[in-house]
Amino acid sequence: MTIAANLGYPRIGPRRELKSALESFWAGKTTEADLRATAEALRAGSRALQQGSGINHIPSADFTLYDHVLDTACALGVIPEGYGWSGEGPVSLATYFALARGARGSAAEQAAGIRSGAVALEMTKWFDTNYHYLVPRLTAATRFQLTHNRWAEAVREGLALGLRSRPVLLGPVSFLLLAKAEDGVRPLELLPALLPVYAEILRGIAEAGATWVQIDEPCLVTDLPAGAEVAYTTAYRALAEAAPGLDTLVATYFGALRENLPFVAALPVSGLHIDLMRAPEQLDAVLDALPADRWLSLGLVDGRNVWRSDLRRALGLAQRAAAAGRGRRLMVAPSCSLLHVPHSLKLETALDPALARRLAFANEKLVEITTLARGLDEGEDAIATALKASDAAIAERRADARAQDPAVAARMAAVTPEMARRHSPYPQRATAQHERLGLPKLPVTSIGSFPQTAEVRALRASLARGETTQAAHDAAMERLTEETVRWQEEIGVDVPVHGEFERNDMVKYFGEQLAGYAFTRHGWVQSYGSRCVAPPIIWGDVSRPAPMTVRWSAFAQSLTTRPMKGMLTGPVTMLNWSFVRDDLPRETVCRQIALAIRDEVADLEKAGIAIIQIDEPAIREGLPLRQTDRADYLRWAVECFRLSAAVVGDATQIHTHMCYSEFNDIIAEIAAMDADVISIETARSDMELLGAFEGFAYPNEIGPGVWDIHSPRVPDTEEMVGLLRRAAQRIPAERLWVNPDCGCKTRGWAEVKPAMAHLVAAARILRAEL
Ligand code: GLN
Ligand code: ZN
Repeated sequence: MTIAANLGYPRIGPRRELKSALESFWAGKTTEADLRATAEALRAGSRALQQGSGINHIPSADFTLYDHVLDTACALGVIPEGYGWSGEGPVSLATYFALARGARGSAAEQAAGIRSGAVALEMTKWFDTNYHYLVPRLTAATRFQLTHNRWAEAVREGLALGLRSRPVLLGPVSFLLLAKAEDGVRPLELLPALLPVYAEILRGIAEAGATWVQIDEPCLVTDLPAGAEVAYTTAYRALAEAAPGLDTLVATYFGALRENLPFVAALPVSGLHIDLMRAPEQLDAVLDALPADRWLSLGLVDGRNVWRSDLRRALGLAQRAAAAGRGRRLMVAPSCSLLHVPHSLKLETALDPALARRLAFANEKLVEITTLARGLDEGEDAIATALKASDAAIAERRADARAQDPAVAARMAAVTPEMARRHSPYPQRATAQHERLGLPKLPVTSIGSFPQTAEVRALRASLARGETTQAAHDAAMERLTEETVRWQEEIGVDVPVHGEFERNDMVKYFGEQLAGYAFTRHGWVQSYGSRCVAPPIIWGDVSRPAPMTVRWSAFAQSLTTRPMKGMLTGPVTMLNWSFVRDDLPRETVCRQIALAIRDEVADLEKAGIAIIQIDEPAIREGLPLRQTDRADYLRWAVECFRLSAAVVGDATQIHTHMCYSEFNDIIAEIAAMDADVISIETARSDMELLGAFEGFAYPNEIGPGVWDIHSPRVPDTEEMVGLLRRAAQRIPAERLWVNPDCGCKTRGWAEVKPAMAHLVAAARILRAEL
């Protein structure tokens, strides 16, 4: 019998119940018992739902109050000093949340012995997803110990309700590789000390009554550092002896095993899970390499995207695995945890029905999994209805004019390499622009948005509820824009912005105006902790029916003689922050978006806007996990940006903005984007991160952020002057701009007003020195 398995279920709750419970607990409105009760109810609900869908291997311990990597670190005793943990025994909720969010200065924290300045652990992206995990800190003082066997407890919780679950455990080698090593510690050298704790966890899981455990080792699809192969082999040999009665499934996802396959196939485990959505091509190699007595778990249902499966294709792959047989036992599963997709399509009552028929969120994916398992065991006839529905959805998509817009196809076919090239190289453009703009040296600007105050949000909400008319809303936004432009003039900002008050979100605002995009009501996906995002869905060919921002930029420009900066979101970011159709290469979809943005850029120029910023904060996020795949992505990502920008004349200045400052590995590509000006985040790094630009002799203009807008602290003029001086040591001052790190929409005016004034003052001081 084929086993229908799940690797992980979304934990935020269909109506973001966990988010509400966490936030009210943090606000002191509810107790720990309330929070735990909500969490338990969510787990019970997801267990029941998975049982009802016919899933045989239901994951447990996949739930977390904040982050599963943090849970693992806490269970292993990897807790730095200062967070109120005594050094042994269970970790309190106060310690847990202090690690997750930093100390808040509450009385409860003091009582728990948490240092008042304790900062949150660093957060970073979970592989190439938009989920963020907290990075455990391994120091010379780290002593692994099992503080609490949360996996055994999860098994018991299930069994008490009559369900034998499969606990999910982050594997020891991935845990070490994902952690941050301090004090010169080399993570893999800690493995011998860590393994006894993992052995203890596995024994506890077996004693609790589980028969299977899922051990996630996603690092196996990445370029591994030296020593990792030995570490994996040593680790799984040791763990095989720890709990001989317990079957272990090593789960890999987000890509192919490639060169790691030979040693992975030889690990002494009961089974291996592979991702056949991202890497269907690895199936044959895995079938060849994996000994016949090992279970193979086929990741056939996409855990990273919202499309319903092509069941016939998936069944074909499963049948191939079965035919390669030698009596091999199979599981059918999602490609990875379903954490990365929303809960349920049932709540989406407002979607276009044609689109809804093509989607599958977590709950619908579970049904696909059990259907495939059944089809494999009982033959195609047994699932004939489901296969027919799947075929019909694919046929409908192929026939849908919105997905195949001939006008878009014609434009795409007409794209020439020249369209992605500015007329003249940067030095000539710079001359033309400086002549036209007449800006001082070290021009002061901002990244685009100004505070989205309660007033702004209330206006938008009331428009959405139909309580405010569009005209009244627009008039109010115009007033805010006007005030903001006047204020920038007053304090002496050289290149003002309109403030982006009319925008709900930098992707949504554009997506809502583009053809080919759809938005869900409840399609929430956890980004970190209680934070969720509802990515738009790109389901049709993308085009721009009408100008999107011209009205606002032109209005703002009419208020001032200074050059107003037009503000757009770039094609790569529009792509990377969406669920993207899977019947076209991402590159093609990105180019369609680029053409749409290009139309807007052209219209802004026509409307007299002399400076246009095309934000690309998400370019890095699309980087493939493997080094060898990166060049191809960067090639088309850079080209798409250029395609969106290169429509303007030499005297129109193109800016771009990126929300980070690690450019070392992509500096050549950043330069190839050929923006006239790039603004980046550097305030926290003391300008050290400009080193990449300096070393590369980056030829165009740069605005290194001198105000860290992520913090409520307002730096004084002197501090900004210091940062600018350091920047000028690395980049010639003629090519420097003065701006904050990022947009100011999350800050209050009480911080923005003084900080922007300090920015202007700092620029003036430096100009006088030049
Ligand atoms: N223009 C956007 C803003 O200022 C840029 C935001 C971003 O880079 N994330 O809000
Ligand atoms: Zn930014």
